[in-house]
Amino acid sequence: DTVIVLFNRDLRVHDHPALAAACANAWRVVPLFVIDPRVPAGHRAGFLAESLADLRGSLRERGGDLVVRQGDPVAETLRLARELPAQAVYVSADVSALARRRERRLAEECARHRMEFRAFPGVTIVPPDALRPSGGGDHYRVFTPYWRVWSGQPRRKVLRAPGKVRIPEGLEAGPLPVAGHEPHGLFKGGETVARERMRQWLKYCVEDYADGHDDLAGNRTSKLSPYLRFGCLSPLELESMSENGDDFVRQLCWRDFFHQVTRAFPRINRDDYRSRGQEWRDDEDAAQAWKEGRTGVPIVDAGMRQLLAEGWMHNRARMVTSSFLVRRLRVDWRVGAGHFSDLLLDGDVSNNYGNWQWVAGTGNDTRPNRIVNPVRQARRFDPEGEYIRRYLPELDAVPVKMIYEPWRMSTGIRGYPAPLVSMD
Ligand code: FAD
Repeated sequence: DTVIVLFNRDLRVHDHPALAAACANAWRVVPLFVIDPRVPAGHRAGFLAESLADLRGSLRERGGDLVVRQGDPVAETLRLARELPAQAVYVSADVSALARRRERRLAEECARHRMEFRAFPGVTIVPPDALRPSGGGDHYRVFTPYWRVWSGQPRRKVLRAPGKVRIPEGLEAGPLPVAGHEPHGLFKGGETVARERMRQWLKYCVEDYADGHDDLAGNRTSKLSPYLRFGCLSPLELESMSENGDDFVRQLCWRDFFHQVTRAFPRINRDDYRSRGQEWRDDEDAAQAWKEGRTGVPIVDAGMRQLLAEGWMHNRARMVTSSFLVRRLRVDWRVGAGHFSDLLLDGDVSNNYGNWQWVAGTGNDTRPNRIVNPVRQARRFDPEGEYIRRYLPELDAVPVKMIYEPWRMSTGIRGYPAPLVSMD
């Protein structure tokens, strides 16, 4: 018999429960990816194309292939299933509204055509529906109790990559998407690069994470987020290898946390998770200045320009820039989150919108009125002004004493704006 494994946000061969089960259960396995033109990958298109090319390479090394089709993923999967014919479709279960709608439709269509449909774990470390608070409710709303229970939860076994993938003969694999031009070039997509980065990180850097993760200029976080976003890495495998990395594993737990929030509240990218009746200011000019890194507040502008230049931003800068937009400019979190989502290589529904709502006070923060002072944050986490100078060359000559608050200089700086809002 034949099983189709429909890939989506799980572009790897290592520790892939759906692929492993298909290889164990079926004589023929057809790995499939469907490019859905209604969901354009935008800035992530190059990274996705590289990841697919790498996945195809790994499957070919194992005697298989990656079949690529274009169109509605459900319709294309069904079409291929009839052509083959296939008796089952396997996927990795995911949490966003879009992904779950697709899974439901696929399950219904499979049932209609008397095919088996199975959803496997693999996108998170602990499956998003596995933990229920003892006090009731369908998910955890607060991180710390989740972290406690999550840490003690038994893990499934990390799975090896299949040795052999037996694909039916004569199958048309279909062209990979064209990568187009890579705007950033800092991250190359795919499992092969991801695994190398993971090894380097775990060998040389993870021990420094507790001390270094807030150092804005220092490059002391893993930068594995785009790989986790596309599933080029298994978060479970990463966790299982992270000895001496409690603080790092805690961040992986945040990822799981927001995934289980999203599963319970799929409108996380649209509606306030917890409405507080905030009124937002409709100020397109301010929002635009923020997007372009022209707010006049150096630490905010440096973060926003890092995003434009690299498709990635340091976590501390994400907190400072997002808080500036919602607290100081009082612009709706949806505006900022949409911009992040467009530009971040790691942009995903759960982590992006979960964090934005956390910052905006409409989400899971237990201190929803928390204020982040950008100047204080900059002094503390960029003590030499190195991060600011890297992204704002116009401030190159400004002494470190003044670089956080150039509006205090009597002369001003040519080519750099005055702050959009009063910073007193
Ligand atoms: P590391 O510090 O090395 O952490 C390892 C991994 O843990 C990350 O790759 C990520 O998968 C996970 N992680 C770390 N911090 C968080 C967090 N706060 N919430 C959830 N997961 C976390 N992360 C995304 O992956 N996608 C997003 O779209 C995203 N949007 C964000 C928006 C805002 C406003 C904020 C404040 C944070 C956002 N984050 C997002 C979380 C965090 O900033 C990034 O995961 C992190 O900066 C990625 O860099 P890294 O891989 O070096 O992280």
